[in-house]
Amino acid sequence: MKKHIRGRCHCSHILFEIIPPTDFCSHCHCESCRRTHGAPFVTWTSVPESQLKITAGEDFLKQYSSSPGIVWMSCAHCASPLFQITKHSPAKIYIAVASLIDPLDRDPENHVSFGECVSWIKVNDGLPQHSQRASDRNA
Ligand SMILES: [Zn+2]
Ligand SMILES: [Zn+2]
Repeated sequence: MKKHIRGRCHCSHILFEIIPPTDFCSHCHCESCRRTHGAPFVTWTSVPESQLKITAGEDFLKQYSSSPGIVWMSCAHCASPLFQITKHSPAKIYIAVASLIDPLDRDPENHVSFGECVSWIKVNDGLPQHSQRASDRNA
């Protein structure tokens, strides 16, 4: 059995584990990710929902729906953004890589929604820069 990849929110009320393999790893530069996470971009991975186990604090998971079928999940106590579920990939759960404790099973592969990248960071990691959204690419 593959080793679980642990994650947590800032206050540690919510603990979770993902079971590899993950589906992908991308840096998303869209405005929605930027505003919900308070960061210039968000690094995402995903797994089928059966491969995410909330091991503590499920009652603290707070949901925010920004539009029909788009749900962002954060910790109700410390406000750490953790997960996203979208109508585009309903059987998947997206996980903010920054919330992980253990290393992911893959390196970031590309930048998506790069057309919305802020002007105040310089990206020169050599990874492909796609203008489309992750949801379009994974559809
Ligand atoms: Zn928390
Ligand atoms: Zn995004």
